Amino acid sequence: MTFFTTPELLEIGGLPFVSSYDKPTRLESLKYYRRAADTYRLKLRLYETVLGVKGADGDFVIETRTGAGEDYQYRARKIVLATGYYDIPNLLNIPGEGLPKVAHYYTEAHPYYGMDVAVIGGKNSAAIASLDLYRHGARVTLIHRGAELSNSIKYWIKPDIENRIKNGEISALFETTVLAIAQQHIVLKNGAGETKSLKNDFVFAMTGYRPDLELFQRLGIYLNPVDQKPFHNRETYESSVPGVYLAGVVVAGMMTNEVFIENGRFHGEVIIKDICRSLGM
Ligand code: NAP
Repeated sequence: MTFFTTPELLEIGGLPFVSSYDKPTRLESLKYYRRAADTYRLKLRLYETVLGVKGADGDFVIETRTGAGEDYQYRARKIVLATGYYDIPNLLNIPGEGLPKVAHYYTEAHPYYGMDVAVIGGKNSAAIASLDLYRHGARVTLIHRGAELSNSIKYWIKPDIENRIKNGEISALFETTVLAIAQQHIVLKNGAGETKSLKNDFVFAMTGYRPDLELFQRLGIYLNPVDQKPFHNRETYESSVPGVYLAGVVVAGMMTNEVFIENGRFHGEVIIKDICRSLGM
């Protein structure tokens, strides 16, 4: 049994994060975050997009629009951007990618029972989706452009997926790319340049995600042209725009594998301390 919490949450909300598994599941994590939001009474404005920001440090105006088309404005002395990078998937840009059978997000396995499912990618999401689909009765083919699975796959997942491939329970095609997706098949090209067609019902393109860098540019935050990392003070996480802070994976630009839950979760405390210092609180 694993126990995840912070002293604050234990004290305030009595929210021990107890998992019956070695690691918390997605649902357990979401429940924990939801309860943290309730405990701290966070004022949430969900399904609302930030269109732009006016003003300057100490007196910003944030302009938003709801899904229903209503516009709002909020005044704030400071801004923290913690927009993550899960909203924009890396596209394959191949014919058929827009078909309804193609997904860039993995949700659950049951609809794919007994189906021929291709999973594209060679890192964590591809490995996790392949294993879950296989364990729920899908016929899985993992297709990766690299020669082998990535070493960045979590240490408790990698041996599992490797053994499933070794046992022939999950098919794996390495040094292979998908050229096109059709309703009943996909077209592949291997390292030798040969193409072939593979029977297919569904495709999960687990090709990663990227942050909304346009938002950063609209705010005037300077991005490093090499890796698109937004300039920020490494001690405080304040960006090149005074009063605008960056939290979580957005500090890493396109190097999205540099920040994850285990290290990104410390950004908040540093930022709040700096905001309090700056506001004399
Ligand atoms: P990712 O780490 O960005 O990996 C994307 C994979 O797709 C890579 O193998 C990449 O190939 C491949 N790819 C990208 N573009 C492609 C293209 N155009 N054609 C073919 N292949 C392409 O994405 P992710 O696996 O979704 O992971 C995202 C982040 O979430 C990571 O930080 C990961 O650690 C985290 N994550 C964590 C867990 C967990 O349980 N802790 C679970 C899922 C995800 P190359 O290898 O050749 O670049």
